[in-house]
Amino acid sequence: MNDVFRGVMRFRCEVFPDKQALYRKLARDGQKPRALMISCADSRVVPELITQSEPGELFVCRNAGNIVPPFAQANGGVSSAIEYAVIALGVRDIVVCGHSDCGAMKGLLRPEALAEMPNVSAWLRHSHAAQCVVREIYPNGLADDQAARALALENVVAQLNHLRTHPSVAAKMAAGKLCLHGWFFELETGEILAYDGVQAKFAPIGDEIGPSTAQQPARHLADVAPPAVAAE
Ligand code: ZN
Repeated sequence: MNDVFRGVMRFRCEVFPDKQALYRKLARDGQKPRALMISCADSRVVPELITQSEPGELFVCRNAGNIVPPFAQANGGVSSAIEYAVIALGVRDIVVCGHSDCGAMKGLLRPEALAEMPNVSAWLRHSHAAQCVVREIYPNGLADDQAARALALENVVAQLNHLRTHPSVAAKMAAGKLCLHGWFFELETGEILAYDGVQAKFAPIGDEIGPSTAQQPARHLADVAPPAVAAE
């Protein structure tokens, strides 16, 4: 813990002075982050570092397995963060970011390891769709490390689908004011893969990436107007 305290002192003495003007501006004007990033709580995945974001630029929600529970009336931390980011802050992009060597995904594959962690076990039920998809796609099974990787990738797609069940997200997407993105961070290489919904595969950011399946063109009223009633 001493390292953590030393880090706090270094921040106060060496880092903060260079950013004081920025912090003062943010304190005065409030935050206007560009995106909401939902990532795993894993200590090796640091959203601000991998996106090189400054304070005030990224609204972040982290949890075990970068999970987005489907919309429900029950209150939840992730659902509240989504609503606040979309409605109060007006973010225009939401990124769900999974990663390699994810402990949550490994736990999902070894339920016996979760016997003493009932909360983790219950939380990971939101990834069961991803698990079913992997089983269906690879009926002959996969080696443990391959299975964890396939599950972590598919989990990103499953959570994008859950995002669309949230009314605030569905509404802004229909208006063309919000885009969803699925990312996967490779710990060993630092590479980030992005989900291409057209090709249904992940490809390195920087390559030509199609929209995620969760993206849609804005809906136009003319498309949904009721048919004209003939005058009698
Ligand atoms: Zn993880």
